[in-house]
Amino acid sequence: MTFSNTKKKVIAAALDYGGTKILAGLIDSTGKIISKKKIQTPSKESKKRLVLEGKNLLEEISEKGGINLSDTAGLGISLPGMVDNNGEKLIYAPNWKMRNFYVKREFEKILGIRTVIANDINAAAIGEMILGHGKKIDSFFWLTISTGIGGALVIDKKLITGDNGLAGEIGHIKIYDRRLKCSCGKYGCLEAISSGPAILKRTKERIKSASFKRITALKKNDLTTEKIVAFANRGDEGAQKILDECSSAVGKALSYIVNLTDIETIIIGGGVMDNNPLMFRLIKRYIKEYVYEEKLRRIKLLKPKFRYDSCLIGAASLIFNQENCST
Ligand SMILES: [Zn+2]
Repeated sequence: MTFSNTKKKVIAAALDYGGTKILAGLIDSTGKIISKKKIQTPSKESKKRLVLEGKNLLEEISEKGGINLSDTAGLGISLPGMVDNNGEKLIYAPNWKMRNFYVKREFEKILGIRTVIANDINAAAIGEMILGHGKKIDSFFWLTISTGIGGALVIDKKLITGDNGLAGEIGHIKIYDRRLKCSCGKYGCLEAISSGPAILKRTKERIKSASFKRITALKKNDLTTEKIVAFANRGDEGAQKILDECSSAVGKALSYIVNLTDIETIIIGGGVMDNNPLMFRLIKRYIKEYVYEEKLRRIKLLKPKFRYDSCLIGAASLIFNQENCST
């Protein structure tokens, strides 16, 4: 489908699909959110429902923001899974257990506006590149530590996608030899060691031992990853030990990235890193410990500029990236 509307406009519509939520927004090319709305969705939704709910949300925020969707420069969509290199379809979304979802075609048909789609981590990295820290730095690695672990590589203001769109998949770098099964089916991946669920699982196992019980105030009944992170940051020795192990694995994986690319800036987001200065400090220490020629490098760890809206603003940035809007 082609669209005759080539006039440069500075507002983009955006949809951020998560495992169990949809966030919609109208964003201008400085990164300002004009209007937005979020809804929760069941984890098992049909493709048809997901499109319909996205469309309804967009129409609602368009009315609220007083901007017709047809007057926007286009629609950017961030998706929780693998997107093909042509940007036509979602190949696989593990949370939705869904394959081959032609998202671009569906939205162009239903709304009649140009649509660009991307994997959520790549979208967030593009948003950061165009509207966030990327305004001052040309190259960085984006890392998300959440339910899973994902990454994206930006070099010289360009997102590196690779031959299959799989570049930056740091979550499946192997850290241990044959322990801890990963969601990908292999063993010892970073995601199986340091993701939110992995931190929780590790603590639950450890809390059974008397020696661990002696050094922690955590109780096994109401454990959550957030609680473990909060306890560690308040000085709980047991919780700190867990985060230290996870940070060592993250630091090791990042040291490979730094050795390979010579990137100095790493932007780390995701739920596990919220209110978690301890893990920022530990990860930095371990990167320095593992990386080659650490004295020559000025390793910097940064928080994402747009925090919870990173993927939404990233989705809008997919449009700005193509439009070359001045920001
Ligand atoms: Zn894996």
